Amino acid sequence: MSAEPVLRAVNLHKTYRGGLLSKAGAVRAVSGVSLELHAGETLGIVGESGCGKSTLARMLVGLEKPDSGEVTFRGRPFPARDVRRSVQMVFQDPLTSLNPRMTVQDLVSEPLQVHRLANGAPARRARVGELLDLVGLDPDRMNRFPHEFSGGQRQRIGIARALATEPDVIVCDEPVSALDMSVQAQVVNLLAELQRTLGVALVFIAHDLAVVRHVSHRVGVMYLGRVAEIGPATKVYGTPAHPYTSALLSAAPVPRPSLRGRKRIMLGGDPPSPVAPPPGCRFHTRCWKATAECSTQEPALEPVDDHFAACHHATRPA
Ligand code: ADP
Ligand code: MG
Repeated sequence: MSAEPVLRAVNLHKTYRGGLLSKAGAVRAVSGVSLELHAGETLGIVGESGCGKSTLARMLVGLEKPDSGEVTFRGRPFPARDVRRSVQMVFQDPLTSLNPRMTVQDLVSEPLQVHRLANGAPARRARVGELLDLVGLDPDRMNRFPHEFSGGQRQRIGIARALATEPDVIVCDEPVSALDMSVQAQVVNLLAELQRTLGVALVFIAHDLAVVRHVSHRVGVMYLGRVAEIGPATKVYGTPAHPYTSALLSAAPVPRPSLRGRKRIMLGGDPPSPVAPPPGCRFHTRCWKATAECSTQEPALEPVDDHFAACHHATRPA
């Protein structure tokens, strides 16, 4: 992994002032996230609702400007026009992200027109057909409207739209969370297959670790606007270093018999409010390992056995 990353985020911060919680104070949605995405890899990002995943996603694709910090694409800052085209997004809810008054053909050809990628209506139509085929939809249905498709098919339309500009990176923000369980695996598999065949790099955001397990080369775990742990999937799932990761894993069904005896760790309550994150380590209020140091000293993301964890009591391999 010595090659230059295709996408790099350096110390991103985003605070929302105004909005629902404004009376209580500013919402610190993302507080110092740095990460790298390498060409052709899938980086899974997981964390509880409200931990800043969507805010991070929007900053990564240039839909939202960070208060501080920087996103670069192949070493160049956003948002140059060709960079815009190279980094695309798939949204959580295809029903609200697709204009219901546009046909599938119009929806998928819109990015082609915006970026002047196919000349003339016949060429655009042919390209839309190709893209629909690529995501497993019947090109003969391109004159239909989004509501005439199932949830899974609508998400495929969203994926076709993202693929239209032949991006190097697609940031998928909980692409299967709004779908029925039975359909989730199909869409996850489609993304994994596209990643392999097209070599596109994916950021795959999900609510829980189980969803991204089989498709991620690396995984990052977020907690209250920060990265708690990040590294190769085998390490994060196999030998988690951060107590929060251990808690998330132990709450999930455990398929491997060797791990069945493992003690279940229950996380108490909801995460604290991002309006007033706890001082020190943000996780200390829910952590069974916490000591005095944890409530005053914010832990840095440091290397632990090939991956990185932000914890004063990170589990180190024996
Ligand atoms: P996630 O995707 O992990 O659920 P979000 O990035 O959507 O998290 O939100 C992180 C925090 O920022 C939440 O507390 C959320 O309410 C707040 N937030 C997100 N977007 C806005 C916005 N546009 N205005 C005000 N607060 C926001
Ligand atoms: Mg979200």
